[in-house]
Amino acid sequence: MKQGLFDLLGLQDVDNEIDALQKNKSAYPRRAAELRAEMDDLKQDRSAKENQLKQHESGFNHFLQQLNIAEENLKKHQTRLQEIKTNREYDAVQQEIIALEHAIEEYFAEREREDEEVRRLRNLLDEERERFEARIAELESEIADLEEKAATIDGEIARVVEKRKAVAEAVPPRILAVYERVRRGKTNAVVRVSRGACGGCWRSLSPQKLNELRMCNRIIACDGCGRIVVWDDRESAG
Ligand SMILES: [Zn+2]
Repeated sequence: MKQGLFDLLGLQDVDNEIDALQKNKSAYPRRAAELRAEMDDLKQDRSAKENQLKQHESGFNHFLQQLNIAEENLKKHQTRLQEIKTNREYDAVQQEIIALEHAIEEYFAEREREDEEVRRLRNLLDEERERFEARIAELESEIADLEEKAATIDGEIARVVEKRKAVAEAVPPRILAVYERVRRGKTNAVVRVSRGACGGCWRSLSPQKLNELRMCNRIIACDGCGRIVVWDDRESAG
């Protein structure tokens, strides 16, 4: 009986190992998806800023062109003004010159605004580049790492499941049946006595129970949590 209970502790360890692997197996893809979402957000944010920059660069070029055309036009009008004979014609050209001067002022202001935005966005993108590239590289390597772990975990699980078979075979069927029953819905179905208490729920064990546990004649469950309690005198437990 005593050896059977010790074997049970060993089985528990293997089962915990399997549980941990199964947990990781479902956690890896979830974590990878989270990291991918973060990476997409970062890339989207950056490309949105790059698009804004392109728009303002083309805005800058547009107003620069308009400005050049208007200035060219203004020069032509000013030249024409000197060749005019009649007052009426003079007034008309003068009006056009005033309109062109207004337009030039406006184009100039627009060009300045676009220029400011272009510089602001270029600075921002420059400032953020190093951090962005470092974070992307970090995310890519973390994702690759998780994918590699996810790819090998099935093999690891299979290996531990094989080991479990051998360990379970060593446990007497009667003890194994109790273990399997208690294990349903509980982590650690079998626990050691620790400082006179159940190692699962820390409820104190009566002196009588401790005596029985020491003798190891039968399977003893904790009154508090129902776990199988084992007096493990191989170490300094108890
Ligand atoms: Zn307990």
